[in-house]
Amino acid sequence: MMKSPVYMDYHATTPVDTRVLDAMMPFYTEHFGNAASLQHRFGWIAKEAVENGRRKIAEAIHAEPHEIIFTSGATESNNLAIKGVAESLREKGNHIITTQIEHKCVLDSCKRLEQKGFDVTYLPVDTFGKVNVENVSKAITNKTILVSIMAANNEIGTIQPIEEIGTLCAERGIIFHTDATQAVGKFSNDVKRMNIHLLSFASHKMYGPKGVGALYVRSHHPRVAIQTQMDGAGHEHGVRSGTLNVPGIVGFGKAVQIAIGEMEGENLRILNLRNRLKDKLLKIEQTSLNGHPTERLPHNLNITFHGVRGDQLMTEIKDVAVSAGSACVSEEIGDTDYSHVLRAIGLTPEDGRSTIRFGLGRFTTEEEVDFAAERFSHAVRALRTYSLEGV
Ligand SMILES: *Cc1c(COP(=O)(O)O)cnc(C)c1O
Repeated sequence: MMKSPVYMDYHATTPVDTRVLDAMMPFYTEHFGNAASLQHRFGWIAKEAVENGRRKIAEAIHAEPHEIIFTSGATESNNLAIKGVAESLREKGNHIITTQIEHKCVLDSCKRLEQKGFDVTYLPVDTFGKVNVENVSKAITNKTILVSIMAANNEIGTIQPIEEIGTLCAERGIIFHTDATQAVGKFSNDVKRMNIHLLSFASHKMYGPKGVGALYVRSHHPRVAIQTQMDGAGHEHGVRSGTLNVPGIVGFGKAVQIAIGEMEGENLRILNLRNRLKDKLLKIEQTSLNGHPTERLPHNLNITFHGVRGDQLMTEIKDVAVSAGSACVSEEIGDTDYSHVLRAIGLTPEDGRSTIRFGLGRFTTEEEVDFAAERFSHAVRALRTYSLEGV
C-alpha cells in the first residue's frame, strides 16, 4: 500500500533510517554521558561513540578524524567556515568570491561580512546553473582570501566543477570552501584529491537526525585557521564550544556509512525513477526542465509548468509533498518573490513562480512516481483550462 501524502521533498530533509535510529537509541538513555566528562565511565563511553562517528564521517570525505568539527547543521558549518576564515585572514585581505546560487546561509553570511567591510563577488552562472572556472580565476585579486562555491545545488541539482575550482585555488594560494550538503552520499567527495580546504554538510539530508552537522577543516597543506564563532569551554579544538550531541553524532556516523556503502546501487535506482518521472512530466504540454541535463544530482528534478502558478499547483495537489522553486521566498510582492537560483539561470519571474522542485529518495517507489506524474498531469491541465475559461 502506498502511503499518502507521497513525500518528494528529499532536498529539504529526509526521514531517519531505522538502522540509524537503532544505533542512536542507547545513547539517549543508557549511555547518556557527556563526551567531555573524562573522569568516569559514562563520559568515556560517550567519547568513544563520538570518536567512532567522527572516524566514519571523516572517511566519507577522505579526511582525517581530527579535521572534523561537529556543529548543529550545515547552516552553522557554512557560517563558521565563511565568517571564521574572514576573521582569521582579515589582515591578508578582504575579498571573498562566491556564486549567485548558493544556499541562503552562505549568501547571508557574505552579506553580513559586507556590512563589516568585506568585498564579495557573487559570480553568475550559465543557464544550466554551472559556474565557469575561468570566471572564478578572473575574479581573484590580491585581496582574495576565500572562495566559497557549493558542490551541488539544492534547487536545480546542478553539480559544480569542484575539483577544477579546488586546483585553481590551490595554485593561487586561496582558501576554498564548499557547501557539500547535497553532495555527500550522492557522489565521491575527496577533500585531498579535490583540494578542498573546508567542507560543510549535515546529517538530516542523508537519513540521519536533524540538528547535527560537520565542518571539515584542513589541518595541513595548508593548515586552515578559523576564528571561533561560539565561545565556551573549548570543545572541538576550541573551534566550536558546547556539549556534543552524542546520539546525533552516532546517528550521523551510521547514516553516512550507509549512504556511502549503498551509494552506487541507490543512485542507479533513484536515477531510473527520476528519469521516469521526468519523462512523464515533460510529456505535459509547455513544460521545461531546469538545471543541467546530465551533470545534476540523481534524485533532483526541477520543472517549469508554463502558465500555471506553483503555489496553485501545490494547493491542488495536497497528496504529493514537493516544493516550489522558491524555497526561500521573501514576503514582498513583485519580481523578488521567486527563487534567487531560478533568477540566476535566467527564468522570468512568471516562469520562476511556475516552477516545482521534486526530490526523490531512499523510500521513493515506482508507484509513487506514477502517482505524482498522474496528479501533476491532471492538475496542470485543469488549472490551464480554468485560466482559459476565466479570460
Ligand atoms: C539544507 C541545506 C543547507 C542547510 O542545512 P541545515 O542543516 O538545514 O542547516 C545548506 N546548504 C545546502 C546546499 C542545503 O541543501
